[in-house]
Amino acid sequence: MSYVILDLEWNAAFSKKRKKYINEIFEFGAVKIDDDMNIIGEFAVLIRPVIGKFMNPYVKKLTNITFDELKAAEHDFQSAMRSFADFLGDSVLMTWSTSDLLALLENQSYFTGGERLNFMKRYCDLQSYCEHCLGVGSASRQLGLSACAELLSIPVEGDQHRALADAQLSHKCFKALFRKSVLDEFIEDTTDDEFYRKLTFKSKLITDIRNPLVDRSKMFFDCPECGARCVQKSKWNVRSRSFKAFFVCPECKKEFAGQVYVKQKYEGIVFTKKIVEPKPQTEENPDNKLSSSDSADN
Ligand SMILES: [Zn+2]
Repeated sequence: MSYVILDLEWNAAFSKKRKKYINEIFEFGAVKIDDDMNIIGEFAVLIRPVIGKFMNPYVKKLTNITFDELKAAEHDFQSAMRSFADFLGDSVLMTWSTSDLLALLENQSYFTGGERLNFMKRYCDLQSYCEHCLGVGSASRQLGLSACAELLSIPVEGDQHRALADAQLSHKCFKALFRKSVLDEFIEDTTDDEFYRKLTFKSKLITDIRNPLVDRSKMFFDCPECGARCVQKSKWNVRSRSFKAFFVCPECKKEFAGQVYVKQKYEGIVFTKKIVEPKPQTEENPDNKLSSSDSADN
């Protein structure tokens, strides 16, 4: 089996035709990897912009590419896609999170009207694979590529935020964490509608405690010291897009704040719980008792 890690760079461009911003892709960078984790091919192309009339200054600073360079590029989106499809062949496509895949879908839909990436047969979200292997990442926080490299003590060098350099860095992370049997569970068949329903489903954190999907019977906490089921001492407050309440252990009297993220995902509602140790209360920090008066949910 071979794998292709793809990274894209894009520029938010306003489309008069669609009356909205499109993430117009201007660079493809990819590496092809064999089963022994060797790079056996590289792919890098710039794409002539059609929608955008200038480069977002932030993107220009990040990538160091000028709009004039892009205007002189050999490929338009369609020809870049055809070349990339040839490069991919029957390899498993990988991207760092599904946002690159969604950008690809958006561009394809804009330029060709197609709603499927038919050149791709199998896909793996490398970010969720690496999060799984490292035991990090949560409902509220996703693992960035450079953060992943740092956790693995991989030096970050070269032009970051250029597509090929990011694909090469992703390869180093992938190589460090490669385990065939685990990876197989992350490879998805992309030839059915289910894959696209899941891909385009917008996961979101629920921040309204009255939402009927927020099942409070699941928002209990067991004592981190002795394991006893704790007693809730305050009402739920919205904090950093999560719910927080104060708890006390009936056995050892330990007090802590319980924090719950409630995320609506394609698969269903996911509850992620964290325990926040109380800070000593000081003059500067009078608010850490989670009083109900500063509730943000009413
Ligand atoms: Zn306890």
